[in-house]
Amino acid sequence: MSCDSLSSVEKRGRQKSWKEKVHPAFLEIVRVHRNSQETLSGSEPHQIARNAQKLRAQVLQTREDLLKRYPELRPGSPSNHITAASARFLSQRDNLTGILEWLCWRRFGQPLAILVAEDKAGNLEAHNKVHRLRDDLWHLVHGRGPIEPFKGNSRHSEIMELGLSLGLDALTDEELADCFDEFCTCGKAHDADALKKQRARVRKYLRAAHDQRLRAIPSRERFAVNGAHGLTARAYHWAAKGIRHVEVSQHGKQVECLIYPDGTVIAAETSQFYQPGGLDRLLQAFGVASAEQLFCMFFPV
Ligand SMILES: [Zn+2]
Repeated sequence: MSCDSLSSVEKRGRQKSWKEKVHPAFLEIVRVHRNSQETLSGSEPHQIARNAQKLRAQVLQTREDLLKRYPELRPGSPSNHITAASARFLSQRDNLTGILEWLCWRRFGQPLAILVAEDKAGNLEAHNKVHRLRDDLWHLVHGRGPIEPFKGNSRHSEIMELGLSLGLDALTDEELADCFDEFCTCGKAHDADALKKQRARVRKYLRAAHDQRLRAIPSRERFAVNGAHGLTARAYHWAAKGIRHVEVSQHGKQVECLIYPDGTVIAAETSQFYQPGGLDRLLQAFGVASAEQLFCMFFPV
């Protein structure tokens, strides 16, 4: 057997293997993603708005279906791409903010809220970046594009971000290349080594964004976090007495449980969390692995 045919046999075997390792939801998400790339790039200018609307409807439908079949992917879990695809009834202002958030992430690998906070704090580099984003946005909104391309291969980054927590992280470099051969529409050959490096970069950016968000939270202590099942968590901080805890209630009504810094949860006897499985219900509602993590959403260490 020649080397050529041996390697093609290996490749055929692998082409299936990556699909068995990823979450089945990823296959559906990445298909919708490929379809949207192909549809939009193949659209005549006058068709773009209508096609984009159809795609949006398709994304919403897929999201609803996926959440029904895989409730563990609910918003608030590490698979936040489903939340990102969920926004609806957007105002013009929300739309512009959405474009800015996307631009900021693609251009600088940083969440917009963090960048704006740094700008307000007097950071010159952040200030220049905000200026740059405004300039990009102006060109896009007024049809004065195209804007300068983003660094790196942003199509690859998008697919990585969609699937990193749905199994792409566990693929070998070769399996990753097979996955991109099937679903990426960039038209270029997919090199396993280059993709491995890009995966590491995306992982690093996501981790940094997560850490930055946690650090930014103290100024937002007064806000509530809404979880699933109509549950709301809110910080309680009485600085003079050194008392800190997080209160959880249903629809902001009577407090059902308190969470302390060490992760201790005190539930009222009448509360839904007092029952067996109550702690799991609480953690699941907020997409956290422990009660301490929920506490840290409001009081990061
Ligand atoms: Zn590609």
